[in-house]
Amino acid sequence: MKYYSTNKQAPVASLEEAVVKGLAGDKGLYMPEYIDSLDEEVIANMKNQSFHEIACTVAQMFFGEDIEPEVLDGIVKDTLSFETPVVPVKDNIYSLELFHGPTLAFKDVGGRFMARLLGYFIKKEGLKQVNVLVATSGDTGSAVANGFLGVPGIHVYVLYPKGKVSPIQECQFTTLGQNITALEIDGTFDDCQALVKSAFMDEELNRHMKLTSANSINVARFLPQSFYYFNAYAQLDKLGKADELVVCVPSGNFGNITAGLFAYWMGLPIKRFVAANNRNDVFLEYLNTGTYTPRPSVATLANAMDVGDPSNFARIIDLFGAFNDPHKEICALISGHRYTDEEIASTMRAVYKETGYILDPHGACGYQGLLDSDLSETETGLFLETAHPAKFKGTVDKILEADIEIPAKLKAFMEGTKQSIELAKDFEGFKSFLMSR
Ligand SMILES: *Cc1c(COP(=O)(O)O)cnc(C)c1O
Repeated sequence: MKYYSTNKQAPVASLEEAVVKGLAGDKGLYMPEYIDSLDEEVIANMKNQSFHEIACTVAQMFFGEDIEPEVLDGIVKDTLSFETPVVPVKDNIYSLELFHGPTLAFKDVGGRFMARLLGYFIKKEGLKQVNVLVATSGDTGSAVANGFLGVPGIHVYVLYPKGKVSPIQECQFTTLGQNITALEIDGTFDDCQALVKSAFMDEELNRHMKLTSANSINVARFLPQSFYYFNAYAQLDKLGKADELVVCVPSGNFGNITAGLFAYWMGLPIKRFVAANNRNDVFLEYLNTGTYTPRPSVATLANAMDVGDPSNFARIIDLFGAFNDPHKEICALISGHRYTDEEIASTMRAVYKETGYILDPHGACGYQGLLDSDLSETETGLFLETAHPAKFKGTVDKILEADIEIPAKLKAFMEGTKQSIELAKDFEGFKSFLMSR
């Protein structure tokens, strides 16, 4: 399978090139040249299969041409050491719990898959060490660091804003050691991201070391997220609830919902999608007006969705690019909602009081997005619960006036010793640090 750039100004790439480079040379995002459909019977039969079997079928469609079946199955198996159960919350609304992995957020799926795939290419091609730079506002860093932990041939540098990630999040990437280095930047998340971008563009640095990105711009990170859409469908199908499925995705960089759209393109019978935003609502504005106007992000309770210029927007536009009126087609399939911090808190409280279910601030946007989508009697609503509420314990406890339990997995991170290197936010300092490695 070849991958083209959404900007169409760069040569097509092999899977390996797309994964190792991350972003295309023209700054576009890589897209698979075609998306094959799965037969209806194959999808209907998924209700009798395990998550691993379902994921192997889907992975085969994307990566089957480039990787031998046994290797691919092994990568899928290693990635999915946990389940993503569908749990009833209220009436016809279900939660797809994506937080049962090692760092308790959905990014574990893509992070682990990408780490294993990259590790495979490095070994097969005898590549020199690949260095992954990742800027994080909290969640991405932990999933990527834990996914890549101990993978030979890879070193990960996690850049995070000093004092601006929760203590629980911080310990998930600063206590690991081995091939993970945490860089505590005296600045904001935007400063961290700017440092990473400058590093990719610096010729001298790129001659010195091989650099790649593990954000959802990387095809190896976002495509595997389509696995759990199929798995969720299969679980609801088993309950007889999958005929008219409405899926709501709490969205920031839009990688997650794009993976859902890929599943839809492959024939997964989802009736419609809802994109839930916090106050960073450039996508909703696009749906409403047809114009896309990126702007700086604002801080909210659902901080993993604080994105003002979602990178995967380019992929969504590209998916619909063959239609006469892409905006009309996008609006026919995807609707949008946006929520303020007050609304997020009030949804969390209402659901907790009525059902006992604890939503995290991101999942709360997803749940409320379904409530506001006029579900008909025959439709089933599924929202993606993207992180375990205990990752945001301080916020959640305060809103619910509760003392929620911290899962053992998370506690284990908190017992480790923090190791990080403090750096200023100027590029020269960051560069000379990397040049010394
Ligand atoms: C990353 C993240 C999101 C947003 O996902 P995108 O793929 O960037 O749209 C939502 N919730 C949580 C908890 C996340 O970590």
